[in-house]
Amino acid sequence: MHTYDYDLFTIGGGSGGVRASRFAAQYGARVALAESGPLGGTCVNAGCIPKKLMSYAAHYHEDFAEAKGFGWQTGEPHFNWATLVAHKDREISRLNGIYAQILTNAKVHTIHGHAQIIDAHTIAVNGKTYTAHHILIATGGHPTRPDLPGSELGITSDDFFHLPALPAHAVVKGGGYIAVELASILNGLGCKVSLVQRGAQILRNMDSDLGHFLISEMRKKGVDMVLDSKILSISKDGEKKKVELSDGRTLDSDCVLFATGRQPNTRGLGLENVGIQVRENGAIIVNEHFATNVDNIYAIGDVIDRVALTPVALAEGMVVAANLFQHGKRLMSYDNIATAVFSHPNVATVGLTEARAREKHAHVKIFKSEFKALKHTLSGSDERCLMKMIVDADTDRVLGIHMVGPDAGEVIQGFAVAMQCGVTKAQVDATIGVHPTLAEEFVTMRTPVM
Ligand code: NDP
Repeated sequence: MHTYDYDLFTIGGGSGGVRASRFAAQYGARVALAESGPLGGTCVNAGCIPKKLMSYAAHYHEDFAEAKGFGWQTGEPHFNWATLVAHKDREISRLNGIYAQILTNAKVHTIHGHAQIIDAHTIAVNGKTYTAHHILIATGGHPTRPDLPGSELGITSDDFFHLPALPAHAVVKGGGYIAVELASILNGLGCKVSLVQRGAQILRNMDSDLGHFLISEMRKKGVDMVLDSKILSISKDGEKKKVELSDGRTLDSDCVLFATGRQPNTRGLGLENVGIQVRENGAIIVNEHFATNVDNIYAIGDVIDRVALTPVALAEGMVVAANLFQHGKRLMSYDNIATAVFSHPNVATVGLTEARAREKHAHVKIFKSEFKALKHTLSGSDERCLMKMIVDADTDRVLGIHMVGPDAGEVIQGFAVAMQCGVTKAQVDATIGVHPTLAEEFVTMRTPVM
């Protein structure tokens, strides 16, 4: 029998890689983890955490304005981008340190450097080779840059978090999670924003009511939502960038931000040395146990491009660790994954969209409510909320819950638990509401829409 340096060698110190390594070590495995960048991956360094901190910053813009309706006299607020970036960076450094400490405490050997698979049991980092019984690839992904004239003049979400100054006018290309979140942040912080989306819809993978509603809410907040339009070219015009659109408009911008999707990080990993199969977009192909076509090599998280969300990578990592080192036979469930988009206003969703529910179920009931939150009766804001519930008319099971409104992610989390338990509409109706809240609307929606 072979003896290897480690039982598990993880490539990638993001959410999934760190979680899998920590759990594997707790189960008694000898684990090493290689990471070429700062620990914490996209979520900590260029995703969820800096984005949410900046989203908080952007919300203050409205909070200051709305406070007047509640009797507050405030001076003219001033925003300082450099202060926000410095404070955000300080917090991220703290989190990088916490990740390092988690690995040290779990006795995972952390190696700083780019790892390359040499053969099925050998990995090279910084010119040194290590052997391992199992290899786990958790290298995440990176933002893509569209192929158009002048695309080198644009930036991606990776660059956004380190912009030297807040642009006066930004063009955001895309209509997915990142586009609406970063457009909302820029707009809230005082930048004039044009969001250019190739189709008529945004958040296309979600219930279509959410995207339509968000378009109108973002417009009310001042974002120029340019739909059914493409960026044809970008050119330099002094300090400015000229953005030529397919609808004939030309936008003068200080910053063009591409948010047109992400791609798995597989380059330079040595996948070809062992013949690991990938899809056309580079995503590693794995089976239900996250094994690649090479028996002892596994992959999880954004690099497999199933559901690119931090909590999903964490769950996948725990499944791999338990199955390898606790002789488990656990499978990952992708049902009822709740998710939030931190646009302004927030969007959150769990379960099936109306379209998907109608495809899968013969009879579907839709409950919908659109209203102004109590806060805005005094705040002067014209923001509105949308809540929608999709129910299987034959079984009464709730199939999907969707929302646009403040703290939508906080509201949806509890409903996701209920859905995971198979909640019926009758059980939702029998729940006493918490008054006065937005969330109570979900337990008081009695009449289906026609
Ligand atoms: P998404 O896949 O969510 O959206 C990509 C957007 O870009 C879509 O609107 C798409 O248009 C558009 N697009 C794609 N290719 C082109 C092209 N060639 N030309 C013009 N437009 C194009 O990607 P994101 O980059 O926003 O986010 C990646 C993933 O990261 C998300 O899917 C999500 O899983 C994760 N994420 C999660 C967050 C959260 O949990 N809050 C936050 C940020 C990211 P169309 O709709 O027409 O296809």
